[in-house]
Amino acid sequence: MDFIYFADTPAQDLEGLPGDYPFTCDISTVLEHSGPLDFILVGKALDEKIIALCEQIRQHARWSLLPIFHYLDLGSYLTEIMDAKVDSFEKACELAHDIQQIIQTLPPILADDKDSNLLRLLLTRQHKSIKPIQDWQSPSLFRYPLLETLDPSIQTWVWLKSLQERKLIVSTQLIDRIRLCPHCDTGHLNYIDTCTNCHSIHIEQADFYHCFTCGYVGLQTEFIHGQQMSCPRCHTVLRHIGSDYDRPIEDYHCHDCGQNFLEPDVVAECLQCHEKNPTESLSVISIHEYTLTKLATMSVMNNTVVDVYALLDHLNFITPQYFEYWLNWYLQMAARYKTHHFALMLIHIDQVEALTQHFGFGFTHQLIEGVAERMRELIRTTDLSTRTSTNLLWLLLPETPADGCEILVKRLRAISDATKQEDGSQIAFQIGYLLSSELDLNHEQAKTLMHQLEGKITS
Ligand SMILES: [Zn+2]
Ligand SMILES: [Zn+2]
Ligand SMILES: [Zn+2]
Repeated sequence: MDFIYFADTPAQDLEGLPGDYPFTCDISTVLEHSGPLDFILVGKALDEKIIALCEQIRQHARWSLLPIFHYLDLGSYLTEIMDAKVDSFEKACELAHDIQQIIQTLPPILADDKDSNLLRLLLTRQHKSIKPIQDWQSPSLFRYPLLETLDPSIQTWVWLKSLQERKLIVSTQLIDRIRLCPHCDTGHLNYIDTCTNCHSIHIEQADFYHCFTCGYVGLQTEFIHGQQMSCPRCHTVLRHIGSDYDRPIEDYHCHDCGQNFLEPDVVAECLQCHEKNPTESLSVISIHEYTLTKLATMSVMNNTVVDVYALLDHLNFITPQYFEYWLNWYLQMAARYKTHHFALMLIHIDQVEALTQHFGFGFTHQLIEGVAERMRELIRTTDLSTRTSTNLLWLLLPETPADGCEILVKRLRAISDATKQEDGSQIAFQIGYLLSSELDLNHEQAKTLMHQLEGKITS
């Protein structure tokens, strides 16, 4: 079998490794290799170098499915981005043979998109899944090494969500649940107990007494006077717990405002953007391990992996994170300057799956292409769009009053109607919008606004 041994130093002991093995420590030598190549065997090299090798191989049109094995113990990130650890040279040949056999059955790739690359990779490695690893240095606490290798620039949550919504991957295991700052999506949070009244952190757990005579509640220390205990307000001498005084249920005392309370307010301070978040506003994310579905296998075999909705991502498209950022900015501008108006519009695109099943993938693809084309004519250069899930398209429309929105809705309906087939099926739009002039601008946040509109449309 043809292979390359990739490492900074010559091979250590590996059973069955031929004496005259082809050895390199240079990535471009591997990429420019002209003859046949069945696999790469990775030895001892810097982590960064191994990562760069795997990234370049996986993103390379010719080599993207080439098996990469290792035989030394490597960290969890490196283990995830390679195909397998082998304990002998024979084992590497055997595994490479299995992978090459499946590769032979794949149809030639038509589109060089990251979804197809990922699905083809997983399909040819039957034992491999999309596995998260914990990384305390990562803002999101968990990383998906395999996805990062295929596209280092992508937000992995967004990619996973899209694949899951299109039923191409399915969770095999719930690994963990994390909480992220809703403003910047980092998991580096400091949980602080604060006063329920003034939110000071200068609070402490203390013992309290409650005087039965006058009802005063105060710190134990206020009641002790030498050998005797008496109420600091009515001066009654307190002798017997249960008949003169008792311990109330308050447990905490604030040194700044004097408030006594039972349970402190827990606030999660973000270590990245310094926002102080109530714990109930944090984004809760479940971390799963995923594998391919049967539909994914079929889609790879029929070359229909492409996300048809992605055709809509050319309408001044920005990532959901940026969209929220701009929406917050528009909210602030509209609050400050009364002449600033904007509208937030949501289009829920429906019936595409039914059309695909009925008329086939190619036809539906063309239909959506037509829709995207006509929508592009409606969108102004100042409008922004994003998708928060496969079929939820958002538009942020500056300087757009109610009648402007109504005209746009009418035109969108016309686009939807133009897709109507003889049997009555069509790409359906459910459209809703919010106008800045109708909002309480000082108390609105992008996230909650979008949540609100989404609930209205999809319910
Ligand atoms: Zn206080
Ligand atoms: Zn008293
Ligand atoms: Zn933050």
